[in-house]
Amino acid sequence: MFHVKQNDFDVIVIGGGHAGTEAAATSARMGAKTALVTLKRDGIGVMSCNPAIGGLGKGHLVREIDALDGVMARAADAAGIQFRLLNRKKGPAVQGPRAQADRALYRGSVQRMLDMQDGLTIIEGEAVDLKMAKDGCVAGVFMADGAEIGATAVVLTTGTFLRGVIHIGDVSYSGGRMGDKPSIKMAERLDEFGLPLGRLKTGTPPRLDGRTIDWERLESQPGDDEPTLFSFLSREPQARQISCGITHTNEKTHDIIRSNLDRSAMYGGRIEGVGPRYCPSIEDKVVRFEEKDSHQIFLEPEGLDDHTVYPNGISTSLPEDVQHDYVHSIRGLENTAILQPGYAIEYDYVDPRSLKPTLEIRHVQGLYLAGQINGTTGYEEAGAQGLVAGLNAARRAHGGDEITFSRRESYIGVMIDDLVTRGVAEPYRMFTSRAEFRLALRADNADQRLTEMGREAGCVGDERWEQYSRKMNDITAAREFLADVNLSARSIAATGSNLNADGPSKSALEALSLNDFERQNLLELVPHAADIGDETLTQIKRDALYAHYIARQQRDVETLERDEAIRIPDDVDYSTITGLSKELQMKLGASRPANIAQAGRIDGMTPAAIMLILSRVKKIEGAKSA
Ligand code: FAD
Repeated sequence: MFHVKQNDFDVIVIGGGHAGTEAAATSARMGAKTALVTLKRDGIGVMSCNPAIGGLGKGHLVREIDALDGVMARAADAAGIQFRLLNRKKGPAVQGPRAQADRALYRGSVQRMLDMQDGLTIIEGEAVDLKMAKDGCVAGVFMADGAEIGATAVVLTTGTFLRGVIHIGDVSYSGGRMGDKPSIKMAERLDEFGLPLGRLKTGTPPRLDGRTIDWERLESQPGDDEPTLFSFLSREPQARQISCGITHTNEKTHDIIRSNLDRSAMYGGRIEGVGPRYCPSIEDKVVRFEEKDSHQIFLEPEGLDDHTVYPNGISTSLPEDVQHDYVHSIRGLENTAILQPGYAIEYDYVDPRSLKPTLEIRHVQGLYLAGQINGTTGYEEAGAQGLVAGLNAARRAHGGDEITFSRRESYIGVMIDDLVTRGVAEPYRMFTSRAEFRLALRADNADQRLTEMGREAGCVGDERWEQYSRKMNDITAAREFLADVNLSARSIAATGSNLNADGPSKSALEALSLNDFERQNLLELVPHAADIGDETLTQIKRDALYAHYIARQQRDVETLERDEAIRIPDDVDYSTITGLSKELQMKLGASRPANIAQAGRIDGMTPAAIMLILSRVKKIEGAKSA
């Protein structure tokens, strides 16, 4: 039964996963009247795979989501049962905060934050179609029960659910993930838009009963003594902290896997989608790294009141009987019960080159896509995209300008630029190596890079803004004080720092840029610096350590800024630019770069081709102004 209502909402978000929750919360924070439509209300914030947030590159994204007042970091801090800073021995630029989360606490925390969010309505049900206005813009959604909900913008975040197929050995059936039905009608609607769709796959390991694991025989991995939290607002972990176990596969495990490869859904040829290279299945590892006779497995408890254990490192699409055999061949798991088999899932994704950097589909105004549907993998990548899509959907609803993120400022910008410029050939995940300005884009300074911009855009609330302003006032005052204190090179060297004692003097702020000049060295020379709070000084030290490198990168940043400022009109007909190779004409036509910087990053782009594009842009501008 249709009950037609016009524009019940400004923004409708479809899907309550990691992209959808950030999109819905952001849109509502921006003041847009928002609906979150999702298959199951209690499925909001479910972690489909590993019970962990963050890691290398991913931790940076979580901090950036937090700097823009998103929910993921606070939920991870509330649910974290083991915090570890990865790459601790390396510099802060490549360190990655990671937390293992209690699944139920994480989900509960996300759901509570959404329940408390003003302007957000949660609607349980399946969205089956999009309502289109006469002008071709999106105008709302149709639900499976016949209801029609109107809106100015729609954000689609259906994850692995679009035509999802689950594979366990030679058994295959339709499903969005274990226990959930797939979303088929919505995939058919996207087909009708003529969007380029592809097929990807991902997998998950069997879940084990922790009560049947012989923990005594296993190595234990505790968390950090001083936990590094995600949110700039958090002070300490809220849940009890636990250790994980470590075990390894062995020759027998590998023999079992090798002799059953033809029964694996992937190796038996039943899966056509491409999987994540950086998160391979155990079958993949055994085949690709033939020379290795053992692979590490982290045994991660899924929660404090949950016996389920997630064996990180053995995701699989082998049949259940083979999963039993190989699990039982592993030290400490000889008598372990399997609670849920591992499986692989294949699903549709949309080629992200059909999106603008706001994540709006270029030729369907008002429709935004975020998360796994865009070819990415991981909660953090999904959450960050959700935030960008929700922010822009709300801006559209209120008639505001679009907001895009640059590679210069954030990992969010790096990810979105990679997606919309180059597309994906395999599930995309974030790494610090993807960011050319990674010394400036650190997890510790995400707030300094983004919170002010988020406040101006309208997605940063008062509480965070006040806390951030206080923090920045403290940092500025302390920096000014330290910049005014002059220290001779001799006195700095006398504190044990490896500096030429006959060199020029330095301000206390400059001295902090020396690798081996720490808080205690400073206090020896400047006792008043004891008045500066620990956190403030740590941040000043980190900023000082990198100041020199960042200054050296400034020229590259300026070049990028200049190229970003040269906009390319959306309607350039690349097929008529003579001199441009057919291949580049096609790539440019598919991704339609918004500016020259983006065009320059397309695979195979040459300086000569850039000149041809520039000349066409000038011609179009000349014609317009004439
Ligand atoms: P999801 O979290 O999948 O959320 C989609 C949401 O949309 C769900 O709430 C669903 O109910 C809702 N929905 C779908 N269709 C409709 C509809 N028509 N109407 C209303 N609601 C709808 N990531 C990794 O980083 N590493 C891994 O190893 C890994 N392995 C994975 C293994 C499996 C089996 C699965 C399923 C996922 C795995 N992931 C992995 C991916 C990770 O779970 C996703 O990247 C992340 O959850 C994507 O978030 P999302 O918000 O895009 O989608």
